[in-house]
Amino acid sequence: MLLDSFGRSHNYLRISLTDNCNFRCFYCMPEDEYDFTPSAKLMQKDEIISLAKTFVALGVNKIRLTGGEPLIRKDAGEIIESLAALPVTLHITTNGTRLHEFADTISNAGIKGINISLDTLNRDRFIFITKRDQFDVVHKNIELMIDRGLRVKVNVVVMKGINDDEIIDFVEWTKDSPVHIRFIEFMPFTGNKWTSNKVFTWQEILGVIEARFTFTPIENEKNDTAKNYTVKGHAGSFSVISTMSAPFCSTCNRIRLTADGKLKNCLFSGDETDLLTPFRNGEDVIELIKINILNKKKELGGQFDKNFEDLNPDNIFNRSMINIGG
Ligand code: SAM
Ligand code: SF4
Repeated sequence: MLLDSFGRSHNYLRISLTDNCNFRCFYCMPEDEYDFTPSAKLMQKDEIISLAKTFVALGVNKIRLTGGEPLIRKDAGEIIESLAALPVTLHITTNGTRLHEFADTISNAGIKGINISLDTLNRDRFIFITKRDQFDVVHKNIELMIDRGLRVKVNVVVMKGINDDEIIDFVEWTKDSPVHIRFIEFMPFTGNKWTSNKVFTWQEILGVIEARFTFTPIENEKNDTAKNYTVKGHAGSFSVISTMSAPFCSTCNRIRLTADGKLKNCLFSGDETDLLTPFRNGEDVIELIKINILNKKKELGGQFDKNFEDLNPDNIFNRSMINIGG
């Protein structure tokens, strides 16, 4: 079991397959020129599988593939197949652009749910946010996944003055469609234009929704980061991920492996442990993993707290989101 000094047990590993992406979402990528990691420095397929097996032996039973965009990696299908053979539930977070190419792989791997990012229902705004004209493809692929019987969660990063006027439209979508909308509070990362006044909080989101709909909370699962709700009579549901205004660190069970093989025990951890280099040198990485987890900070990587109003993002020591693996 991977325990930290606060007694939290970590059974959920998020693996970034690449820091490359076919989108350029401004809230995720640094505004300066960004050099993607060369492929030789990324974990290779067999390295990902071997490291994943090591984590499984240490108690991990849930793995999420993320990135960058995980499905632009050429061997993504083979990686999915191999990881699906491990005793884990396998999940994917994707921008949705390539899902039509992976529909069979996903079904064959026994994947039951998928998280797809879509921050707006407006095509022009989609182009403004992602710098790409791919709204129709993403929307169509969300429908494809629903038709294939997957539980689809749509990730929406809510940013004041950017897309907070669409919250009602997203909840409206849940009326006839079994889609689950996850409103995510905007988080600060290196170079992502974050300012505290752009955060649209959990309470503000609920305030907007309750002016139009009557909704009730759905009971959370133990390590759930999302606060879940449903509107009576709606086929779908919605939730809020309140990382900034009400962090859920006390029940955190997550750890992250970056595409270049560094272990991060928190999304906001300033420290990371290189596993890939010792692994390539034939060394045992189990002790390195245990020490990294043991040193996990109590909350938000020890870098800030829920009083984020005066937070200066330049004082947070971290990578950009695309480089961590969200
Ligand atoms: N490319 C895939 C995607 O977009 O779903 C997977 C990687 S992306 C980094 C994972 C998730 O992180 C996405 O849902 C994205 O919206 C979210 N994300 C990225 N930057 C964020 C930020 N600054 N605040 C909150 N969520 C963010
Ligand atoms: Fe790419 Fe996902 Fe980041 Fe957008 S949020 S730039 S799709 S990794």
